[in-house]
Amino acid sequence: MSLDIKYFEEMEAKIPRGKVRTRFAPSPTGYMHVGNLRTALYTWLIARNAGGTFILRIEDTDQGRLVEGATDVIYKTLAECHLDHDEGPDVGGPVAPYIQSQRRDTYGKYARLLVEKGHAYYCFCEKAESGEDSGDFDRADDPCRALSLAEAQARVDAGEPYVIRQRIPKEGTTTFHDAIFGDITVENKTLDDQVLIKRDGMPTYNFANVIDDHLMGITHVVRGSEYLSSAPKYNLLYEGFGWDIPTYVHCSPVMRDAQNKMSKRHGDPSYEDLKDQGFLTGAILNYVALLGWSPRGDIAEQEVFSLDELARAFDLAGMSKSPAIFDIEKLTHFNALYLRAMSPEAFARAAEPYIRQAVKDLSVEEIAALLQARCEKLTDIPEKVAFFQALPEYGVDLFTNKKSKTNPEVSRAMLEAAIPMLEGLSGWTQEAIHDGLTALAEKLEVKNATLMWPVRIAAAGQAVTPGGAVEICRILGRDETLRRLRLGLEKLA
Ligand code: GLU
Repeated sequence: MSLDIKYFEEMEAKIPRGKVRTRFAPSPTGYMHVGNLRTALYTWLIARNAGGTFILRIEDTDQGRLVEGATDVIYKTLAECHLDHDEGPDVGGPVAPYIQSQRRDTYGKYARLLVEKGHAYYCFCEKAESGEDSGDFDRADDPCRALSLAEAQARVDAGEPYVIRQRIPKEGTTTFHDAIFGDITVENKTLDDQVLIKRDGMPTYNFANVIDDHLMGITHVVRGSEYLSSAPKYNLLYEGFGWDIPTYVHCSPVMRDAQNKMSKRHGDPSYEDLKDQGFLTGAILNYVALLGWSPRGDIAEQEVFSLDELARAFDLAGMSKSPAIFDIEKLTHFNALYLRAMSPEAFARAAEPYIRQAVKDLSVEEIAALLQARCEKLTDIPEKVAFFQALPEYGVDLFTNKKSKTNPEVSRAMLEAAIPMLEGLSGWTQEAIHDGLTALAEKLEVKNATLMWPVRIAAAGQAVTPGGAVEICRILGRDETLRRLRLGLEKLA
């Protein structure tokens, strides 16, 4: 079977050139782990920083691992994070298709080209059954490596099942360069003749990514450092084809602790889990950006970055070789900063579902205004505001507060005076309640706090509340406030 040289020429001619092109190439697993999200972010940042193109490619060649709806998670996450892609399965582009399972024929053709060039060979061995290499495959023992191309082709034509393996040189060393890790040299004898095309005709990840990165004109290959050990084999593939080697940017792992990588299987949160735990997308991205990259120069101390600021500031030189430890406390700190920086309207919109989990009818805007400076995560909200819905059980000891100079007797006197005053207020505004209470304190010749404390305790039924007496009474409304204050008074009688 002769090779269709024209096909390869046409494929070469389609490759976009002249601009930075990066790709995020997730396998559809059904969730986005933190390391993957960070890889997506860095990949996007490198493209945006250079005014280049960001491509989404779906790597679904491992058909056994496919998960229903998994690509939707990828699209949804990228969209939520504003990591917009210029080319991809859903938006198309000059080097479509962008889903590996739809590129199957291409890999087969390139594998045969590599066989012709002498850098790959057909292997008919039984041990090739599993498709993937186990790593203990001794190429010296493999009779197929020594078959002539004519012999091998005859067996292929006769319908014998085969895989295609990479022919790694027996001697010598291979060196590759990584932008973060520098030069790495390995002895070729430590590299296995990895499978490129499996028995079912599907490529392995290791082959498909090289073909696609080349044919898609990828200039910077950004991925997790778990692929570092395969990089020499990729280089040998590029060299075998006579192609330029892209810039490799391997990202150090995101760790749960000093020893262990984060892993969904071991209960570490994915991006979706963090969202469910009440973290904001912006805060997650900001925190994740700084896990493995540090700003330098006059922004070295800056902590909060918008996506645009990151795109301007991001550079490979700021990326770290050392693993980064994911710290939920630090993320919580970022989340609080992001919550406080929102406009009151945006915060209210974000807080609404959480407020409504606990409080049915009262004003979301007014409750949100109390919360904005006082919560670190949106999920903290229901517990903080439940007292608005139902007065908690509480004991009279809450009425005692040294700083406010209150005890049960003082509190009783305060509530006895506050109830008729509040009943008689002409309006139920923040100002009216505030002025009424402070005037009353003055009349009673007590500190404001001596009056406010028992009013707040009786209104809320708990010691710690978002907001003070005036705000709580205002939100509860006059009837409910008076009902609660009378109940407080009964407790103190
Ligand atoms: N599909 C691979 C993964 O999800 C991508 C590796 C790469 O970017 O080359 O880990």
